[in-house]
This record gives sequence, structure tokens and C-alpha cells, in this order.
Amino acid sequence: CKASLEVQEPSHRGTEIEVHGLSQKVVGVLGGGQLGRMLCEAASLLAIKVIILDPMENCPASTLCHHHMIGSYDDSATVEEFAKRCAVLTVEIEHVDAETLERLEKHGVDCQPKASTIRIIQDKYLQKVHFSRHAIPLPKFMEVGDLEGAKRAGDLFGYPLMIKSKRLAYDGRGNAVAKREEDLYLAVNALGGFDRGLYIEKWASFVKELSVIVARGRDNTVLCYPVVETIHRENICHIVKSPANVSWKIMKLATDVAYKAVSSLEGAGIFAVELFLTADGEVLLNEVAPRPHNSGHHTIESCFTSQYEQHLRAVVGLPLGDTSMKTPAAIMYNILGEDEGDRGFDLANQIIGRALRIPGASIHWYDKPEMRKQRKMGHITIVGPSMGTVEARLKSMLAEETTDGE
Ligand code: ATP
Ligand code: MG
Ligand code: MG
Repeated sequence: CKASLEVQEPSHRGTEIEVHGLSQKVVGVLGGGQLGRMLCEAASLLAIKVIILDPMENCPASTLCHHHMIGSYDDSATVEEFAKRCAVLTVEIEHVDAETLERLEKHGVDCQPKASTIRIIQDKYLQKVHFSRHAIPLPKFMEVGDLEGAKRAGDLFGYPLMIKSKRLAYDGRGNAVAKREEDLYLAVNALGGFDRGLYIEKWASFVKELSVIVARGRDNTVLCYPVVETIHRENICHIVKSPANVSWKIMKLATDVAYKAVSSLEGAGIFAVELFLTADGEVLLNEVAPRPHNSGHHTIESCFTSQYEQHLRAVVGLPLGDTSMKTPAAIMYNILGEDEGDRGFDLANQIIGRALRIPGASIHWYDKPEMRKQRKMGHITIVGPSMGTVEARLKSMLAEETTDGE
């Protein structure tokens, strides 16, 4: 279909590669982890070419992308070189060199989402300042530079207190909880000390964590996916249920907060908005990811347009697809790594072995070169005619895991 569906002006960049597929734009992705891998899977359906920049030779996306440039997405010269090879530059991780992206943008490189978005989001404190300026409801927060400041935050917000690293946080690494004032010193040290750049958040005593995947096209169309519930294990997303079991009113409130948060950021693509639902029905923003997200994996099997296809459509300038669910219920289960060695693989294999026999279950294995404790190794999405059925299927998938004497 050549470029017939192309709604953006054809780019002169990246055209050295033969034109075919739904877009002639070569999409460059900074990062080649599991999100990059699933972007490549979606790209193959549309025959869109995706190239990856990742330092790891055997990163999860390496075998599925059109080309893998081995190098750091945090190195200015490397990112610059990579940008020459693509028509549009996007990310699967926010911890990239935002300054370089800002400079490249000034020289005409098409970054989606915009470098300004990456800069705001990669610093969680800056992110909080940004969203509070846009009147998005958040847990109270405060920048701290020494123990006295942390104690003042404790006096103001009460305990427990959440201490967070401003930068390079993921999977809860970068968060520490102080249950009382005496814990502050150890919690701060566990995060590498105040020099690392820390801030403090008031504890959000949530009843549920919710997430909304939001897509914005290049024409500024914004579409939201159904609100999901995320269940974390030791700060890591473990189970996602779609749709979330909350009232229509909460669905609407969560969607409105997510829509408003994303509207305050620039650029096209998928955004994930992580939220806390409090006992009195308040919805507070936790953080935003400017890319496809773990809480949207289920969309591959449960929605008409997966978040990965949607991200590609958005960044190349195709119309956005239908975000609604094509199945009544879905659960996504993350396979998290155990300690290195055979035990972790044995446990994963047991779950996968059972999943292979469960109706509506789809298995994703990321092919990471080694297993580490709490590392996201793969996931399984189960779809079905009702949440009750899907929950029962999840239970049977995990049954032996719990009886194995873990
Ligand atoms: P991600 O992998 O989502 O990027 P992260 O390292 O950026 O994780 P956060 O999203 O800040 O970490 O926090 C991880 C989890 O810790 C949250 O999903 C939530 O369960 C808990 N948490 C974070 N902030 C607070 C808070 N202020 N009060 C209570 N719990 C919190
Ligand atoms: Mg985060
Ligand atoms: Mg988070």
C-alpha cells in the first residue's frame, strides 16, 4: 500500500531504505528491552521498519528489529549518529539523554514524544512540580537536601513517609519508606544519600492502584484505553486487571485526570498514567511514563489496537486505532525472575507449562540473556468472557506455584 495512508508529509530522512508498508518512515527507538521488542512485533504487522539503539548485543528487541545499533542511548554522539538513520525518534525508556534530544530537535530531528516531555518525566521531582502547576491532583511532595529537611517533611506529612530518587528510578528501585523519624537516616542512605537528588512524598494510603494508557496522535487526537487495576509486588507491577473493578464515576475521574495530565505534555505516542485511588474516592497521580507501559501489555490480546501498534501509528502520523476492549475481561501476569540459577527458570517453566493448557492464555517470553531476582522475564495475558472466569484461570495457572512450598 506504499505511503497511501501516510498523513504526514513524507520525510527526507531515512528514505534510503526501500519504501513499503503503512509508513515509509523508519522509526528509531531508544532502548531495546521488552517494550522495544513488542513494538517490533507490532511493527512487523504493519511492515513499518523499526531500528533500535541499545548497548546490549542480545537485548530482547535485537532479534526482531530491522537493525540494531549497539550503543548507549545516554551518549550524545551515539544518539546523534542513530538519529541520522531514522525519520522519527521515539523511546521505550525515559532514562535517555534529554539534552541531546532537545539539541537534535532544534536541528530538525523529529522526536515523538517531544524532548521537553522526556526531560520533565525523567526527573520525578520536576514531573511532580510540572503536574502540580497544571492542577493535577498528587500526593503532597517536597524537595529535601539534608536530614533536617527530611525531618520537616515528616512533621508536615506524617509517617510512613515515601522517599524517592529524582532520577533513574524504575521498578521501585529508587524508593525507600521511613516508618518513623528514626528510619530516615537509613532510608536516605539506602538510596545513596542526599547527593543522589531526593525528594519526599506524603504516603498515599490507596485502596487500589489504577492506570490509564493514553494515546495522542500527531494531529493531537487523544484517546484513552479502559482504566485498569495494577497490583504491585514489592513495588513492581505484578498483575494487571482490565477493566478495573471500580464504579463508573471512578472510571470517569481516573480517565479525566489521565487525559488532563497527558494534555499538559508535548508530542505524539503512548503515555501511561499511574494513579492512586484513595478510600474517599479521590484519584491522585503517581507518575507518567512517556511510552508503552507494563499496564498496557494486555492490550495486545484484549483491545482492538494494542498500545504498541498505537504508539507506532501515533509517532509516524497514521490515524489512531480503536482503544476499546474486544474481550470482556483480561488479566496480565508478569513472570518475575528469581535468583540466578535453575530454580527461577524451573518456576517460570511451571507457570508457562500450565498456561499452555489454559483457554485464552497468551505467553510472552522476552528472551533476556540472564535471569535476575525481580527482573521482568515475560508475561502471560489471559482473556475470557468475565473477570470471574479470568481470575479462576489465573488461579489455576498459579496453583502449583503456591503448593510447591515457595
Ligand atoms: P515504575 O516501575 O512504575 O517506573 P518507580 O520505580 O518509578 O516504578 P513508583 O511508581 O514511584 O516507582 O512507585 C512504585 C510503587 O510504590 C507504586 O506503584 C506504589 O505501589 C508505591 N508508591 C509510590 N509512591 C507512593 C506513595 N506516595 N505512597 C504510597 N505508596 C507509594
Ligand atoms: Mg517510574
Ligand atoms: Mg511507577
